[in-house]
Amino acid sequence: MKILVLSQSDVRRLLPMRECIELMAETLATLAKGEAVQPLRSMMRIPTGILGVMPAYLNPGKALGIKVISVFPGNHGTELDSHQGAVLYFEGEHGSLKAVLDASAVTAIRTAAVSGLATRLLARPDASDLAILGAGVQALTHLEAMLAVRPVKRVRVWNRTLEHAQDFAARQTTRLGVPIEATPTAEAAVRGAELICTVTGSREPVLKGSWLSPGAHINAAGSSVAAARELDTSAVVRAKLFIDRRESTLNEAGDFLAPKKEGAIGDDHIRGEIGDLVLGRIKGRESPGEITLFKSLGIGVEDVASAHFVYHKALKSRTGVSVEFGGQKFGSDDLKDVKRPSAKAKKKTRKRAVGR
Ligand code: NDP
Repeated sequence: MKILVLSQSDVRRLLPMRECIELMAETLATLAKGEAVQPLRSMMRIPTGILGVMPAYLNPGKALGIKVISVFPGNHGTELDSHQGAVLYFEGEHGSLKAVLDASAVTAIRTAAVSGLATRLLARPDASDLAILGAGVQALTHLEAMLAVRPVKRVRVWNRTLEHAQDFAARQTTRLGVPIEATPTAEAAVRGAELICTVTGSREPVLKGSWLSPGAHINAAGSSVAAARELDTSAVVRAKLFIDRRESTLNEAGDFLAPKKEGAIGDDHIRGEIGDLVLGRIKGRESPGEITLFKSLGIGVEDVASAHFVYHKALKSRTGVSVEFGGQKFGSDDLKDVKRPSAKAKKKTRKRAVGR
């Protein structure tokens, strides 16, 4: 049997941001309806980083798969991505492995697409002033996602290393044609912003609630473990909180767990999952002055749905490299070169046996 190997550029081409936003809406609604299997991810820590394992299954379409991804923050600023690995895509009927996809690309695009979806559902329709905290891969895809869902006219970007923010601003202004300004402080980026994306590797808050304007919407995607947070307690307390997955939030979201530990909020601070918002089961923004917050952790169904989508598009467009790989019953190859006895030889053997 053959499997398809899909590179970073294949995934990027076959998973445009706008299409991925629609796909994430469908996927998170499927999850909310209980038509997916989504266990908590497992993470193995080593001194230089983390190896994460994220399996999932989506019933409609029978998409089955797992993302195996290393997170090595020290790679930032080098030619290596801080998130590397593969999404293994299986079909859910017979469990056959069908494709191996570059996980850096899937992660970069699907994470921002979910933030794009949350923004479409929660931000004020006229929100046009965007602040991005962070200037790495997620900053880039979050910028694309925000441009896809809101009429963004002004972008400010802050980053720990100012030169990286300046470089980001110069490149993306040219590429996307929207004016981007690098600011020396996070506060200078956030004051007056209507859309805020936090996409840093920080473990300590980079966003303070006291800087937020009424009506702002925040996508907090950078911290995805219990020990790290990007938002201070007041930012979380002031906001209506929406999440990708309740079980993940209660176990992995430092942005939620830290204020909870301080006694500032309880579990009832969570208004609901994005999938329930898509299905219209819960209310989102109820007034223009409310502050809304989407806390993103990233879940396996997002990766598996992306892989399913990209794989089928790749088949149609003949993209990727096809490789002979497994599938047949183990050992069936062993008999290929063994000469089977001919009918004549079999008859002879039988005669001899009878004569004995
Ligand atoms: P990159 O390595 O491309 O960029 C990291 C960014 O974070 C850089 O701007 C870097 O700044 C900044 N940063 C790193 N450490 C700190 C710190 N201590 N304080 C302030 N800023 C810091 O990573 P990505 O853009 O791919 O990922 C960004 C974050 O998002 C990561 O924490 C990652 O784990 C998380 N993530 C979350 C996902 C989700 O589903 N929610 C999915 C994928 C990633 P500098 O330029 O100064 O180094």
